[in-house]
Amino acid sequence: MLDLKISGAEVMDGTGSAGTRTDVGVRDDRIVAIGDLSREHAGRSLHAAGKVLAPGFIDMHSHSDWRLWENRRAESKIRQGVTTEVVGNCGFSPAPVVPEFRDDLRGFALHVPPGMDFTWPTFDAYLSALDRDGLSLNVAHLVGHGTLRIAAMGFARRAPMPNELATMRALLAEAMDEGAFGLSTGLIYAPGSYSTTDEIVEVARAAARGRGFYASHMRGEGATLLEAVREAITVGREADMPVQISHLKAAGRPNWGKVAEALALIDAARADGLDVLADAYPYTASSTSLRTLLPDWALEGGVDAMLARLTDSGGRAKIREAVTSTRGESMSLRVGWDNVMIVGTTKRRDAEGRRLAQIAAERKLDPVDAMLELLVDEGGRAGVILFQMDEGDVRRALAHPAVMVGSDGSSLAPTGPMAASKPHPRSYGTFPRVLGRFARDERALSLPQAVHKMTGMPARRLALRDRGVVRVGARADLVVFDPRRVIDVATFEEPHRYPEGIEHVVVNGRFVIKDGEHTGSLPGRVLRHQ
Ligand SMILES: [Zn+2]
Repeated sequence: MLDLKISGAEVMDGTGSAGTRTDVGVRDDRIVAIGDLSREHAGRSLHAAGKVLAPGFIDMHSHSDWRLWENRRAESKIRQGVTTEVVGNCGFSPAPVVPEFRDDLRGFALHVPPGMDFTWPTFDAYLSALDRDGLSLNVAHLVGHGTLRIAAMGFARRAPMPNELATMRALLAEAMDEGAFGLSTGLIYAPGSYSTTDEIVEVARAAARGRGFYASHMRGEGATLLEAVREAITVGREADMPVQISHLKAAGRPNWGKVAEALALIDAARADGLDVLADAYPYTASSTSLRTLLPDWALEGGVDAMLARLTDSGGRAKIREAVTSTRGESMSLRVGWDNVMIVGTTKRRDAEGRRLAQIAAERKLDPVDAMLELLVDEGGRAGVILFQMDEGDVRRALAHPAVMVGSDGSSLAPTGPMAASKPHPRSYGTFPRVLGRFARDERALSLPQAVHKMTGMPARRLALRDRGVVRVGARADLVVFDPRRVIDVATFEEPHRYPEGIEHVVVNGRFVIKDGEHTGSLPGRVLRHQ
């Protein structure tokens, strides 16, 4: 007797192979039978002729660790068919934390939902706290280098002393023992940007020893993209570990086309025997925190120190000059103020979803001053969407065999406090957009390849042997979608819209999405790296 039988679907097993029409049987949380199951009895039966049955999607690059506390139903992700999210990316993770620097970490956080108080004494205690009340999907955690650095030395803008480096390594080693999957960096964000390549290699070795991988938000994604790819590869080579280049892109019009060169570097490293892969999301706009547009020294000492500089006329003039300087890689100049959309405001609601050039004109301010004023009004915490990439680059990245899919978004919801802002639509649309637009409509890649890039490929990177694949014995994380209808509908103007064509989602053998509706079920688990 089966608990669940899904019959007649075209099964794409996650390996990249073409689909075959067959039946899949589930008992408890595992797939127990594949083949003609017409004579088998099941507690629940689902007839899925004309639909695709695939392993549940794995979001290789997510920031939901800051959202799941207030959104355990993981609405915007589960409705895309995502059954596992990899969090702790870009150098940010909510643990480990030490009491001395707890407030620094709170300031560093991308978002602090109710209930997230940073009192967990260990990484393990943090994972257990996240797991305790259940989740609609599974979560795999990386440890952020920025978080480690804050725990060891706060927002100090200098190289770590030997004892501080030892603290970072010890905290990471402990977290790896407790189930972390690897180390992430955010080398454009203070304090990660204060570190040298050598520091990252030294810290990363602790993750390598625990057989983790290195996920890199690199030091540059525009003019210095290729140097940054080389640096990420160097870390992998020196620390002897796999490298995952996060959200591969070429930002800023002068750099369009460079994704091909970045991919060539990745191919060369792979040909050399290094395990280097990347992930990408299917949009030509990126999104980050507004303060990223400031020079990194502005954040020395933490967010409060940055706000103090912004309200002091001398400090403000220095920051202003750095932002408008044509030397170095000034992100705001590269993008252009008309391509900067303000999002995630809590006080300045007038600015939400609007371009900075427009906001500045309305307030009769220079765009730089309008931005600094906004940052102060928001206590340092608003976000931006930057329209700065080339469609050809996006397509080339998604189609490349070394690139998988990662949203760089979060589990959001169209109701409650999360509905107030206008976040990047990737949080709602990434996976259906790759399937519907890039695979079906534009044929940039085949549908089985697209599915592989969201299932088997990330599962292998995570060393999750029993997920990301449809086979007997694997965990029953499954998605049933309509290949003719699947598409994203979230836009930059109306981001809180669920995609179409994702009909059923099963996590650990239980329906979370049934006939397109959330069942309220919370069968997800915090996964521990083996
Ligand atoms: Zn990032």
